[in-house]
Amino acid sequence: NLNKILVEDLDFYYDDFQALENVDLKAPANQVTALIGPSGCGKSTFLRTLNRMNDLIEGTKVEGKVLIDGENIYQENLDVVNLRKKIGMVFQDPNPFPKSIYDNVAYGPRAHGVKSPEELDRVVEKSLKRAALWDEVHDRLDKSAIGISGGQQQRLCIARALAVNPDVILMDEPTSALDPVATAKIEELVEELKENYTIVIVTHSMQQAARISDYTAFFLTGEIVEAGPTEKIFERP
Ligand code: ADP
Ligand code: ADP
Repeated sequence: NLNKILVEDLDFYYDDFQALENVDLKAPANQVTALIGPSGCGKSTFLRTLNRMNDLIEGTKVEGKVLIDGENIYQENLDVVNLRKKIGMVFQDPNPFPKSIYDNVAYGPRAHGVKSPEELDRVVEKSLKRAALWDEVHDRLDKSAIGISGGQQQRLCIARALAVNPDVILMDEPTSALDPVATAKIEELVEELKENYTIVIVTHSMQQAARISDYTAFFLTGEIVEAGPTEKIFERP
């Protein structure tokens, strides 16, 4: 399925305030789709409609369609727990739990019923390797996640998201709180991850969108005003 995510005519309301109007977007599988635009134009709101995180905010309303693998996630009786398992999320500020590095990554699998220590070890190792963090932390998995650097914490949050086997990863300005070196590592990682995942990333940086995305959508006050292949939008050589 080429279009992993297909959004059609999406409107979104916080009570009476319409935050998104008529949004259409397709996010192809195994590509990085960047959402850019000024602060307050609806990028985070839009991202949160893709895994129904907005359901957690009272008074919100969605109209239109969000299809993931061809299935409308706003249909009645949708299994939201299963949806969020399929769609991992990473936020602007690294937010590891105040627990060990190991327990952060094992959290999701445990919550979904993985009990065997061998299986948990395997998932933790694989997830940390995929998040390009294993080499830096494998000898201190029992240490607190709060003790590692911000960039490492963000890669840990990515590992935590990967551990439940999603196929889509939503990232909301994942490098805004990081220094340039840590940012470069996350950007490199995003490019690696797209081999196995579909990635939608909110960024306020056009340069970042140009560097790492395949497809770019510009938001302006709740609407997508332009979208297309990144090399066309930025005339990248
Ligand atoms: P962006 O991510 O582009 O900065 P947001 O999606 O955070 O934009 O916000 C879009 C608009 O929706 C803004 O006007 C913002 O104030 C409003 N908004 C965001 N979250 C809420 C909320 N929980 N309740 C009410 N309004 C909100
Ligand atoms: P960002 O700049 O990352 O989009 P903001 O600083 O605008 O985030 O918002 C931070 C949090 O406050 C978000 O969870 C957002 O949903 C919420 N928020 C933003 N605007 C409003 C609003 N007008 N009313 C209530 N909550 C809001």
